[in-house]
Amino acid sequence: MEFDHIIIRYGEISTKKRNRKGFVDKLKANIRRVLEEFENAKLSASRDRMYILLNGEDHKEILNLLKGVFGIQSLSPALKIDRDIEELKNAVLFYFNQLSRQVATFKITAKRADKDFPYNTDELNHILGGHLLKNTEGITVDVKNPDFNLRVEVRKEAVYLTGEVIQGAGGLPLGSSGKAMLMLSGGIDSPVAGFLSMKRGLEIECIHFYSPPFTSERSRQKAVDLAGKLAEVSGKIKLHIVPFTDIQLLIQKQIPENYTMTTTRRMMLKVADKIMEKQQGMAIITGESLGQVASQTLNSMYAINEVTNTPVLRPLIAMDKLDIIELARGYDTLEISNRPYEDCCTVFTPATPKTKPRRDKVSFYESFVDFDELVNEAVNKVETITINHKQQKDLGASDEMEDLF
Ligand code: ATP
Ligand code: MG
Repeated sequence: MEFDHIIIRYGEISTKKRNRKGFVDKLKANIRRVLEEFENAKLSASRDRMYILLNGEDHKEILNLLKGVFGIQSLSPALKIDRDIEELKNAVLFYFNQLSRQVATFKITAKRADKDFPYNTDELNHILGGHLLKNTEGITVDVKNPDFNLRVEVRKEAVYLTGEVIQGAGGLPLGSSGKAMLMLSGGIDSPVAGFLSMKRGLEIECIHFYSPPFTSERSRQKAVDLAGKLAEVSGKIKLHIVPFTDIQLLIQKQIPENYTMTTTRRMMLKVADKIMEKQQGMAIITGESLGQVASQTLNSMYAINEVTNTPVLRPLIAMDKLDIIELARGYDTLEISNRPYEDCCTVFTPATPKTKPRRDKVSFYESFVDFDELVNEAVNKVETITINHKQQKDLGASDEMEDLF
């Protein structure tokens, strides 16, 4: 006996009214992409659920992949059984033995949509419960608060069994909230900000600033590898790598030292904004968390944000560093982020950056320098690569990419 289908429940999408179809279609497309290699599996959708007919494909592998798909609230493996009591008994035992966790108590909840079936619901609960008790050890019945509730639904065409509820990733289907640019450093925070944004349905493209020869190839590779982790969720991802050396050198030369960090961030934001426009995004995402470092005080954000009207999304703004580290561990990016290579910001960090920079002052300092030309040049020299999760996996390498420009 094998599970023959999987039930997918939507969660938050179910609360949508008018745009529901759009969300469901996105989810369908995302599930199809994730399950691409399971050629026999068939997906069908009803108003508030989807079903995967396994047609012999491995239910565990598929459940594992589906657990990472945003927009799914929960999943259940299910069985379709002939209307035969002996078959049903076997199926109940099979379901129980396949559970992914230990249970001490259970309950059978039979439902009879078709009254022609020779056993009523009480009889079914008894026969099937008794069969389970007889053939297993260490479990008892608890009808009020069971660890495991096995639902048996008798219909005209067949009997359906489902019980285990596996938690999904929640959130909204990837791509259902529009596109935003993630400023991706080699640090711990920005990749986490990326995952959280994707969870709320954003499609993201990454932007990484690097400053050769002050930063090494390895530090650039960190950004590529982190983008590769994000691609595990989205299938593929674009990474725009911005040569930032000339701008940083000009800042060092022309801006008073305690304001260099503020101007650096402003220039990054300007460049990111222009790339976003080109790529038709609608927001910029950063890994900033309030008060974490000098550039992340409210005064700093106020001074830095002056250069753009674009919404700057900061999913980590109210989170503590330790909690962010835990998330990074869960998303499996912590190890990459902890590699000890320098970042373009750390190389040029002044000894005492202003924690309370002022808009009027930073604008005044910048007014003596023509940054616009260098900003445009940086945008024109951007190298865009597409990181394809599948190719990466197949090659076992982290640098399979294709040039876009
Ligand atoms: P992270 O861990 O994400 O590097 P951080 O705590 O080190 O964050 P900062 O270095 O001040 O903080 O950076 C704040 C945010 O600015 C980052 O989360 C990221 O979104 C953006 N950022 C910083 N450096 C870069 C870079 N080299 N390329 C792209 N974005 C950057
Ligand atoms: Mg950093």
